[in-house]
Amino acid sequence: HISSLSRYKSQPTKTRDGKAITLLANAELPEDITTISNAGAQGIGLYRTEFLYMNRLSPPEEEEQLAAYRDVVEGMNNQPVTIRTFDLGADKTVDGGRPLSQAVVTNPALGLRAIRLCLSQPGMFRTQLRAILRASAFGKIKIMFPMISTMNELVQARNLLEQCKLELDNEGIAYDRSIEVGAMIEIPASAVCAEMFARHVDFLSIGTNDLIQYTLAIDRIDDHVNYLYDPLHPAVLRLIQMTLNAGKKHSIPVSMCGEMAGDPRYTRLLLAMGLEHFSMHPNALLEVKQVINETDLSLLPANTLEVLDIADAVETDLLIEQINEAVH
Ligand code: PEP
Ligand code: MG
Repeated sequence: HISSLSRYKSQPTKTRDGKAITLLANAELPEDITTISNAGAQGIGLYRTEFLYMNRLSPPEEEEQLAAYRDVVEGMNNQPVTIRTFDLGADKTVDGGRPLSQAVVTNPALGLRAIRLCLSQPGMFRTQLRAILRASAFGKIKIMFPMISTMNELVQARNLLEQCKLELDNEGIAYDRSIEVGAMIEIPASAVCAEMFARHVDFLSIGTNDLIQYTLAIDRIDDHVNYLYDPLHPAVLRLIQMTLNAGKKHSIPVSMCGEMAGDPRYTRLLLAMGLEHFSMHPNALLEVKQVINETDLSLLPANTLEVLDIADAVETDLLIEQINEAVH
């Protein structure tokens, strides 16, 4: 099975009817880079930076971060790398096991995490932004902000980034002046208003892990409600469709970097919805590529997008099966 998949490694990713698709990998640790460059990814669509902050007494300094980001972009041979600013939460710690916030919170997923935490710790945030900017002198880097829910957060984050650029200018330090900035869409409110955000960023990326959690009100790490975690829930699919439409309307790329992007069962549906940029665990790349390269979009069932209107899960599964078995 693995060896039959390996023939896809050197093939370009495109559907039978000729639509080019971008396949990117998610990275969590520096050692992932070897796996990724071996898997035929066209770049890194999500570089999670949390590892740099965890299990240590103090947050990483600029130089240490610069070295980490430079390693990844150089290790990827100048393919694009999208670095996400720290997505630490109230439940994760950076300070010798002490929570970042002293407050006792009952709903950490709804609390001071991701961009909210970045903005509440501007010193720590600026250190990271400077390191990312400096690394951009060594390859193609993009910056991505997690869990954006308001325009104000986006404006604040962009202002801090501009300040860091000015500082580097004054210090005579090189960086990519046209570095692209994107926002993750992983809160239902942001998917509904994706158009609003699309006007102010270079790209959007859908984080389905959180989008599903927040849309269906189920804790993504609570096994008791695991059975309700459903990427095919019509509400989830409609939010994804809204985000894709917003990108199209404003001519910016929209990628998907949650687990859903790496599940071959959903690949054809996502293609039919208009997704062109997939980012996933490196182990999933070739299987998804096989599905893409064996799909003729014009031969998908005419009612494919009706999945977005079906409330009954059994009916949904049937239609997904038809879509996945359609002749190719
Ligand atoms: C997501 O939420 O889908 C995502 C990609 O980010 P993370 O899993 O790191 O929260
Ligand atoms: Mg997320």
